[in-house]
Amino acid sequence: MTNTASEPLFDTVAFIGMGLIGSSLARRILRDGLAKKITCAVRSEATRDRVLELGIADEAYCDIKEAVKDADLVMICVPVGANEAIGAQLAGKLKKGAIVSDVGSVKQAVIRDIAPHLDEGVSFVPGHPLAGTEHSGPDSGFPELFEGRWCILTPVPGEKESATARVQALWEACGMKVECMDADHHDRILGITSHLPHLIAYTIVGTATDLEDALRQEVIKFSASGFRDFTRIAASDPTMWRDVFLNNREAVLEVLGRFQEDLMALQRAIRWGEGEKLFDLFSRTREIRRGIVDAGQYFTNFSAEGEDRQSDAKGKNKTDK
Ligand code: NAP
Repeated sequence: MTNTASEPLFDTVAFIGMGLIGSSLARRILRDGLAKKITCAVRSEATRDRVLELGIADEAYCDIKEAVKDADLVMICVPVGANEAIGAQLAGKLKKGAIVSDVGSVKQAVIRDIAPHLDEGVSFVPGHPLAGTEHSGPDSGFPELFEGRWCILTPVPGEKESATARVQALWEACGMKVECMDADHHDRILGITSHLPHLIAYTIVGTATDLEDALRQEVIKFSASGFRDFTRIAASDPTMWRDVFLNNREAVLEVLGRFQEDLMALQRAIRWGEGEKLFDLFSRTREIRRGIVDAGQYFTNFSAEGEDRQSDAKGKNKTDK
């Protein structure tokens, strides 16, 4: 889907962080003329040079205040553990009327870390595009990443509706379906649909890694598709996922507790040969899969995030995150 707006949606969009998500959004904005200018702040000169070489920003700086000073929209695209320090650098640096948004996988912590630093007259519209891959960095992005996927916005109470509407329009122009909800609700949903499945993938691959050498070699050699998919998910960026678990602690621990209870029940059913129990559970979970397919959320390859992935026209794999 390409932007049908006759005018760009923003004059200047400033990115803080140009990894997978930041560079994908920048590519989409450039491709469809959704902003007149893109600036970005990155951490190293090497990344700054690479961003300019790729042509995914008009201007790139290692200094946040240079990148954001004229921005109408500041899009924060860094691991959520970096937000507090970035919020502090935004204080007093944004023009009146600017909107700050983000793409972080956890929302309550982002609001906690960014909102207190924003000046009067600056709007804050936290967001989370549920699209991603296991790759990182500015080279990994592509403009179709968001096509057909959900984006969740978690506007803070009292925020201007017009600011939320402008951020929503941007994501819709990127091909996303947008829904607004409380940050707390977002964190609980993503705890079960994304964070727990990642934790399970990290655990399974970790367990296989700890096997004695001979067995480990065979696990790799005869790796069936289920395990292979888990390894792909467990290859996701360690910094990003460390920060997700540390910043969505309560929701993840709650769902993990329930998961452990259910796992124990399965363990017991296997031990006591309760085939009917196993069959009933597997039948119910099959129904859930069918429900997902019926809801139009069907993609071709299973991903161990517990979510689905699809291949785009260029054969790149996408996952919900
Ligand atoms: P990424 O590819 O690893 O990019 C992260 C970017 O943040 C890089 O530009 C990196 O700079 C910068 N950065 C890292 N630590 C920083 C720090 N301490 N201070 C300043 N900049 C820092 O990550 P990503 O996948 O785009 O993820 C970005 C955000 O999107 C995360 O909050 C994540 O939760 C969220 N998200 C990710 C996915 C996904 O599937 N990956 C999906 C939806 C949402 P360098 O280039 O210098 O390392």
